[in-house]
Amino acid sequence: MIYAGIDIGSRAAKAVLLEDNTIISTAIHDTGPESVKTSEALLDGLVNGAGLVRKDVDYIVATGYGRVLVPYAIENVSEISAHAKGINWYFPSVRTILDMGGQDCKAINCDERGNVTNFVMNDKCAGGTGRFLEMIAEVLNVPLGEIGNIALGSTSAIPFNTICAVFAKTEAIAYLRKGVARSDILAGLHEAISVRSYNLLKRVSLEEDFTITGGISKNRGMVAKIEEKVQMTPRLCDDPQLCGALGAALFARDRADKAAAPMMKVQYGHDDGSGSFFITIDQQLCTGCGKCIDICPAGIFTTGKEHGQKVEVKEELRKKLSLLCPGFKTCSTGNAVNCHSVCGENAISHSW
Ligand code: SF4
Ligand code: SF4
Repeated sequence: MIYAGIDIGSRAAKAVLLEDNTIISTAIHDTGPESVKTSEALLDGLVNGAGLVRKDVDYIVATGYGRVLVPYAIENVSEISAHAKGINWYFPSVRTILDMGGQDCKAINCDERGNVTNFVMNDKCAGGTGRFLEMIAEVLNVPLGEIGNIALGSTSAIPFNTICAVFAKTEAIAYLRKGVARSDILAGLHEAISVRSYNLLKRVSLEEDFTITGGISKNRGMVAKIEEKVQMTPRLCDDPQLCGALGAALFARDRADKAAAPMMKVQYGHDDGSGSFFITIDQQLCTGCGKCIDICPAGIFTTGKEHGQKVEVKEELRKKLSLLCPGFKTCSTGNAVNCHSVCGENAISHSW
């Protein structure tokens, strides 16, 4: 089976093609002003790269800033979930992710299965983003891909009090006019961005293993500065810029598996002279997370023991459901949360 993940970021559009669990093609384009056109060209390049055509792709999931503008995607997921899933494929031990994108920066925690457990985001200011570094590279007239290496050559970094895009640009131009070396200006800016990134990371749980994803993670100078601040060596995947697209492709694989699997709904309850009342659990959708077990005020659910069910209704309660469970609507009124609201997979239904 072939799965595609499409990540339309604010500056770059990335794509990954998976055959089962193997990456068979990747593509990166500038996003440009027309996301729809970009996403079409991206998919064509992606499938051509593997010697395939579009109809060979079984399932496509989009992510990123422009994910809703991918006309052929069957579903979309947030870039935060996609990055966590993508990095988990490379390094299941990673618990902290710094995603440095074109227009924002995110610190993310994930668990051993690549599920997001916490995140914070800085999207209010361009400072420290890919766009900011592009602007500085233009001002200093150096290639964007070289700024990190140039910064590493500095002997006396210039301290920057701000990485506000407007003020930092003005300061950089002023230093340039005074004859300060480009390497020292860049080293100062890299230092300021790394401090800001570290402050963002401190707002989540900074745990090993740690990684950096997004386009800026290709900048060796930036990675070195951040490593110095967090006192951890980041685990970097082959191309950290593709991590979100890989995550989307992995979501595509999961969703296709679920869609192809036969429905297996297990119904519990009764239908007799007193009326009918049923709770149904779709075992194909259920991940076994156990949240419904913890949340149900009537203690109706338990971990599955029979026939491979992940969660089930307690055997001794099956004929008392109409007494114990006031029904989804009633339960919603009395409780802020209930089995429906905690089940992210929409696996539970009630009927009466
Ligand atoms: S909350 Fe939903 S996914 Fe989690 S165990 Fe219950 S039915 Fe399954
Ligand atoms: S609706 Fe409320 S009482 Fe009924 S099974 Fe769900 S959480 Fe339990």
